[in-house]
Amino acid sequence: MGRRNRTTGETVDREQCLALDAADPLRAFRDEFMLPEGVVYLVGNSLGALPRRTPERVRQAVEDEWGGQLVGGWNHSGWYTQPLTTGDRLAPLIGAGPGQVVVGNTTSIAIFQAVAAALRLRPERRVIVSDVRNFPTDHYMVQGLAGLLGGYEVRDLAEGRFDDAAVVLLSEVDYRTGARHDVPSVTARAHEAGALMIWDVCHSVGAMEVDVSGADFAVGCTYKYLNAGPGAPAFLYVNPRHHADAQNVLSGWHAHAEPFAFEAGFRPAEGIRRFAVSTPHVLSFAALEAALDVWERVPMDQVRAKSMALTSLFVDLVGDALELVSPADPAARGSQVSLRHPDGYPVMRALIDRGVHGDFRAPDILRFGFAPLYIRYADVHDAAATLLDVLDKELWKDERYATRLAVT
Ligand SMILES: *Cc1c(COP(=O)(O)O)cnc(C)c1O
Repeated sequence: MGRRNRTTGETVDREQCLALDAADPLRAFRDEFMLPEGVVYLVGNSLGALPRRTPERVRQAVEDEWGGQLVGGWNHSGWYTQPLTTGDRLAPLIGAGPGQVVVGNTTSIAIFQAVAAALRLRPERRVIVSDVRNFPTDHYMVQGLAGLLGGYEVRDLAEGRFDDAAVVLLSEVDYRTGARHDVPSVTARAHEAGALMIWDVCHSVGAMEVDVSGADFAVGCTYKYLNAGPGAPAFLYVNPRHHADAQNVLSGWHAHAEPFAFEAGFRPAEGIRRFAVSTPHVLSFAALEAALDVWERVPMDQVRAKSMALTSLFVDLVGDALELVSPADPAARGSQVSLRHPDGYPVMRALIDRGVHGDFRAPDILRFGFAPLYIRYADVHDAAATLLDVLDKELWKDERYATRLAVT
């Protein structure tokens, strides 16, 4: 392939991509992941790849801890404190400090907890600002909570007004387009309006330097760029200024000051533990711990630099073949590129059949995520070449690709 590079005006060929890979300061990290042969995996923004160390850590949790220690694992293997110990390890990835992040449950549950807590901290206000284009579960959880409480207005971000809002809930990076909000300036706007700010960092954590320390709450999942595996637990950050006053409406026994006192009345724990809910998913935490072992050695500034280079290379190589839905400025997008095609579904199926794995988001978006720890410049080259081939030769018109699978 020898397309014109739109940014530099130069041609980028496979040889040059191999040279970029050889000079990549993150290149050694690829060996820490198990990836199938012949696959270019551009779905790390949906389910991250398997770290090589994870199977052994999970085996250990199953056989040595569960099998060997039985119920003693709660004490001897730290199961009971995992929501807090993994929270402390994860905190630097979002600009937080120790004792500010609790891990467990799912992002949807964490959103419910954060929005509910924020509403109780602003009892005189009745407006929740949310983004209808956000990943639907965020907006659905807001709708459910507003319905339960009654008397709340859910205002769409597009209306542009934060005045009277109790809380503003947004994603740093949009799951569909990859567009990125400027966290400090939006947080400042929310605070100036007297609202509390909740950030969802599902599509930014692990892809760039994230800093939610100015916000009131933040939530995110660990199975996308963080590579903690399918069904891995989510996290909730609560700014320390709210630790004494914020309430956790999901007041399960692990949020109690003394869970093993088995008291009749709920008394919240001090600090971030009051946002724990109940028994942690111990086996999933093992996979998260293995993923964090990798992240502790990763320079995030290099991740962001490579991410922007990878997405820019892909945009340049695809050229004008498809409409770019993501922002053209790499600084204004996350680690993904979204392209539009009216027959996006069969196009993606044809691509996957040829070893290039992206995904499709209705009605017409082709999504490609670039996880800088294991995606190489040569992979980007090959993915773009395959995409152009599928389009040029209309390979997607094969009737095999017309039927829809349950998960795309
Ligand atoms: C992936 C994602 C979720 C996932 O929610 P779960 O409750 O963990 O299934 C939520 N919000 C956003 C913005 C996401 O990207």
